[in-house]
Amino acid sequence: MKLETFAIHGGNIVSDSEKPVVQPITLSTTFVHQPESMIYARANNPNRHALEKLLAGLEKGADAAAFSSGNAAGVAVFQALESGSHLIAPEDMYHGLKNAILSMFKGVLEVTFVDMADLEKVAAAFQSNTKLVWVETPSNPLLKITDISAISRLAKEKGAILACDNTFATPVFQNPIDFGADIVMHSSTKYFGGHSDILGGALITKETDEFWERVKNVQISGGAVPSPMDCYYLCRSIKTLPYRMKGHTEHAMALANFLSTHNAVEKVYYPGLKSHPGHPVAANQMTGFGGILSFQVKGDADDADRVISKLNYFTNATSIGGVESLIERRAASEGPNTLTPQNLIRVSVGLEHLYDLLEDMENALK
Ligand SMILES: *Cc1c(COP(=O)(O)O)cnc(C)c1O
Repeated sequence: MKLETFAIHGGNIVSDSEKPVVQPITLSTTFVHQPESMIYARANNPNRHALEKLLAGLEKGADAAAFSSGNAAGVAVFQALESGSHLIAPEDMYHGLKNAILSMFKGVLEVTFVDMADLEKVAAAFQSNTKLVWVETPSNPLLKITDISAISRLAKEKGAILACDNTFATPVFQNPIDFGADIVMHSSTKYFGGHSDILGGALITKETDEFWERVKNVQISGGAVPSPMDCYYLCRSIKTLPYRMKGHTEHAMALANFLSTHNAVEKVYYPGLKSHPGHPVAANQMTGFGGILSFQVKGDADDADRVISKLNYFTNATSIGGVESLIERRAASEGPNTLTPQNLIRVSVGLEHLYDLLEDMENALK
């Protein structure tokens, strides 16, 4: 089955005697005791089971676990590590997960943040107790590219698990398991939901090994699980994921090209541009470059804010992955200690008509 076909049929498990075409939402929290019973909705329910089957198939994994947010999914991996373990993570890791490691796991886990593009630095960061390497590619907000295969070789040599946050690329453009990742993480809030109205997260595993058992225990015992409604809506949204991603990428590429020739723009960050340092690696591990780009306007934070305030179709809001274009001056969201340049604008390019988006941006940059 090809991706587009699986996205539509892979999560549609219909067992009802009335034969609906679409799987119903099962709100029941408890199930009649019998040999194959799901028992209790925190442990499992039909809509979550369907979503997990869909996610595992999309990421070419053996199993998946759905969570109530992307952060809950990421934190479940850290919780599954034994205390005293060391992990290596990107210095530009998604700030919400970086904050979670630093605040929740202080004194429990050791962490080294490194530049994942510098393989020597990554190799030098391993310790005898390194159990996990975390990568995020493309990264946020500079769209840095990490060579998943190269990091996977280092992790394997040292017996560490490799996890990859695949939120920006989605399985439409990148399957980290193909390049050696053991665990794939997603914020389903972004492209999976696709309409800025569902909060969710997911983990997919290459193998149902002992570590995965620990992750599943965090999911079920910790209980940060999505509702049957959210699972249903995610299955529905994912049916159009492959086509939405084609549109997002086409629009982002066109906007990146437009911005990179504009004289009010200092620099554009998009892995689809040949000028991007990660372009060759991205071209090797991705089949499309995704819908997110960043750019620096010539000038300071005020100049960047002025451009944003003049736009009509790009909404000034955080988050990514919806059908509507979103834009924000990233440093303002990341707080006073951020390393992100003050004049940097991140764009989640939406599915409005491309000419409207380009015309809007052209007027705002005047
Ligand atoms: C949004 C996001 C997360 C966190 O997901 P939530 O659903 O907001 O909890 C993690 N990683 C990346 C790359 C994200 O964009």
